[in-house]
Amino acid sequence: MTAGTGSPKRFREASRTALNNERLQRAMNRLQSGFGEARAQAIADLPEFDALRDLARQRKDFTLRHLPQYLAAFEQAVRRAGGRVHWAKTPQEANRIVRGLCQEYDCRHVVKSKSMVGEEMRLADYLLGWGADVIETDLGEYILQLRQEKPSHIIAPATHLNRDDIAETFQATHGEDGQQGKAAEGLVQEARHRLRQKFKQAEMAITGANFLVAETGTVVLVTNEGNADLGVTLAPHHVVVSSIEKVVPTLKDAFLFLRLLARSATGQDISTYTSLYTGRRRDGATDGPETFDVVLLDGGRSDLLDSEFEEILHCIRCGACLNHCPVYAGAGGHAYGSIYPGPMGAVLAPALNDGTVHRELSQASTFCGKCEEVCPVRIPLPKLMRYWREKSFGDHQSPFTERVMLRGWAWLCRHPHLYRSVIRLMSSLLRRLSHGGWITSLPGLGRAWTQDRDMPAPPAKTFFEEWEDKR
Ligand code: SF4
Repeated sequence: MTAGTGSPKRFREASRTALNNERLQRAMNRLQSGFGEARAQAIADLPEFDALRDLARQRKDFTLRHLPQYLAAFEQAVRRAGGRVHWAKTPQEANRIVRGLCQEYDCRHVVKSKSMVGEEMRLADYLLGWGADVIETDLGEYILQLRQEKPSHIIAPATHLNRDDIAETFQATHGEDGQQGKAAEGLVQEARHRLRQKFKQAEMAITGANFLVAETGTVVLVTNEGNADLGVTLAPHHVVVSSIEKVVPTLKDAFLFLRLLARSATGQDISTYTSLYTGRRRDGATDGPETFDVVLLDGGRSDLLDSEFEEILHCIRCGACLNHCPVYAGAGGHAYGSIYPGPMGAVLAPALNDGTVHRELSQASTFCGKCEEVCPVRIPLPKLMRYWREKSFGDHQSPFTERVMLRGWAWLCRHPHLYRSVIRLMSSLLRRLSHGGWITSLPGLGRAWTQDRDMPAPPAKTFFEEWEDKR
């Protein structure tokens, strides 16, 4: 997959292709039922879940209001622990900083663990292009690297693939090692064997961060495979890439968010590995990296502070909104053409691009509200998507037909008598087109509504008629 230009046609075409891809549809169904049910169970087991969400939201609000102060505190604490913080305004600048660190420490072999900010920077491609040997060590990311694809989900990057896809990939890329058949154990062993060599060779481990703790300079990172920890333990140099809004004031805050994160993401009480990295190896200690550098990317986030999109900076990247979104479930992550897919991506992707790219993704929503319902930090995603729609309309970016229809609708709403007559007429016409209470095919502009789904026929009486009867 390559990031697309973000034109409406591109999303529409990509999602149509995805809907016709049976393998993908099976994979997406598995994802929704698996993560959705696990989350529901984990939450049922934690009666204070909603109270934790409220508290988390308050802490995020508070931190964002004092963001420069907490970022400065984080930098000072990292320095006290023997590390360094580097500031980058753009992904390109962040890449150059990481390359500079590779040169400074004379590193050519890099093990990288999953990081959405790293994806935003296209860091692995950049370092490979420069001449470093960079290997993704998260199993899903490793498979995608072999396939030269991008993640389709923020926590389960290869969720669009099944075991056959992975076996084919390994056979095509592992040469003689790629003979382990299709059993999951064999495939995992094969990847483990390959990755082990890379871990041993690595001079630098690059990780992301789930939270940055201002009071201690600690980087909190969760994984389910332990690959980040292995890299950081074996390689002499540790570089963290993170975006600025990951900072939280205290360790207590970080643990509050951790309680919400795993439950919302995978339905686990806590992720298998939760690691806290503070600075470089202490004098006299036997473990830990010799150097510790944190690259903090702004990437357009400061511009969101005090804007109508500020609330997207609350996001803790749990993926729950993706796992419960009917549009994401049908289209899959690649159709979005953005680094961040699903409802959070529909808000964040255009915001990180000045609203010039990916703005149309706000159309990729039924506004069912499920994303807001499951978001652990209560981000009003439908409201934020609506802002993008309004901006598109205001900037004359939405399609001509849509603009004409919306204007017509607005005019009709200002003429109640006519509105009621038109609604009555439309209802009666639609009922005539229905069979057994369902409309399966509409002509003209209405065709898009029924192309992939049926529509219930309108009731015999309109809302206003029912209202009048009941008065
Ligand atoms: S928007 Fe909410 S639900 Fe979606 S990934 Fe972010 S925190 Fe999770």
